[in-house]
Amino acid sequence: MKTREKQFHDFMALAREKENRATMENHGEKIKKLNSNKTSVLTASQKRGRFLTDNLVKAYSPDKTVVWHSLFMPTELFYAMDIVPFSTEMVSAGIAGAGLSRKLVETGEDYLGSYDSCSFVTCSYGGINQNVFPEPDFIVTTSQLCDPERKLAGFAAHRYGKQEFYIDVPYGAYSQNEQHYSQSLDYLARQFENLVRFLEEKTGRKLDQENLKEVFDHSNRAREWFIKINKLREKNCPIKGIKALDFSAVLLNTWGTAEAVDIYKTLYQELLTASQTESNDPNKFRIGWIHLRPYYDNTLFNYLEKRCSVVVEEINYVFWDEFDAADPFRSLARKVLANPMYSPLDYKFRIYENMIKKYRVDAIIGFAHKGCRHYYSAIHLAAAKFKDEVPVLIIDGDCIDPRAYSFPLLKTRVDALIETLEVS
Ligand code: SF4
Repeated sequence: MKTREKQFHDFMALAREKENRATMENHGEKIKKLNSNKTSVLTASQKRGRFLTDNLVKAYSPDKTVVWHSLFMPTELFYAMDIVPFSTEMVSAGIAGAGLSRKLVETGEDYLGSYDSCSFVTCSYGGINQNVFPEPDFIVTTSQLCDPERKLAGFAAHRYGKQEFYIDVPYGAYSQNEQHYSQSLDYLARQFENLVRFLEEKTGRKLDQENLKEVFDHSNRAREWFIKINKLREKNCPIKGIKALDFSAVLLNTWGTAEAVDIYKTLYQELLTASQTESNDPNKFRIGWIHLRPYYDNTLFNYLEKRCSVVVEEINYVFWDEFDAADPFRSLARKVLANPMYSPLDYKFRIYENMIKKYRVDAIIGFAHKGCRHYYSAIHLAAAKFKDEVPVLIIDGDCIDPRAYSFPLLKTRVDALIETLEVS
């Protein structure tokens, strides 16, 4: 059996160890069923599920060129060169959703000897050590966003004996003065240019300018649909926050595909249709959400959304401009430099101000994922800054590791917030 086929086999065997939850095997059956449906009859969520699963399955194919990439690496160059992008952190979220993350987090911890690292990364170490991820042909990492991802990439490169291409992103460049910003832009654009040389050398294929143009066009169109979705949600929000988080504009590595355009267009049309018949329940409090959610358990969100509507999420903020195919490397660099998560807090705080002004939120909830050096402190500083404008509830938890999750404890915190909102 070829390496990736064996890894897929072992991944499915791991999934079968779970019997009581929605397992990956069940997931596979669901996908088979979905695949038998015509794309035109699928909902946006189904299209999204189908595309992500197709991509995952492709990544296990021995005939495909597979790149492991860090979370905020733009995927357009990969799609333009027929390279399958694979993000271990995104797959960790899927693994947690299938109820499989505990074992991999424990395996990762055993290897690292560390119990307080980010569990997206710890789970990925577990997956590598259990050899259930598809081996990469090469790895591309940026310094954006976090240190553990960089270390993970180095570890994976060593473990699989593959080369890593590293992109150094200047921190906070978006808020630099004009001269410094322009230097940062050139510096980063040159690295994307070098990346193309690296990809060409590794794949033996040239980057086709027509392909890149098409991929940029897909990205720009998907971006437009997402902006329309966000605009529509300012007035009316006929989508549950738990679902909106799964479309995460910032994180999904589908940017640059025709499927992403179709998914976001379908989502917009669904929301437009729903908003013509449904209005926001005026009895529900409007919530802005910071960071992600526990992927292994939906009880927190299900409970919260009985009394509240999550109307806006930080990670669905579209912060970048359109790509210009005539200036591809600077376009990519501009997008990466504009990331508010890799900028001084003042820039990030504008997103929360936007939540308060444009989305008229009654409260903000920040899910403080244990082990995240970026979000954990930022959420606490945001709470201090905005406390006189709206209540800010910080929920400590973990997106991937289910061991410390306690719904009764979280319910008490949510109840306390709702009581505060009722009397204010
Ligand atoms: S949650 Fe934080 S530490 Fe973990 S991968 Fe994301 S940015 Fe990095």
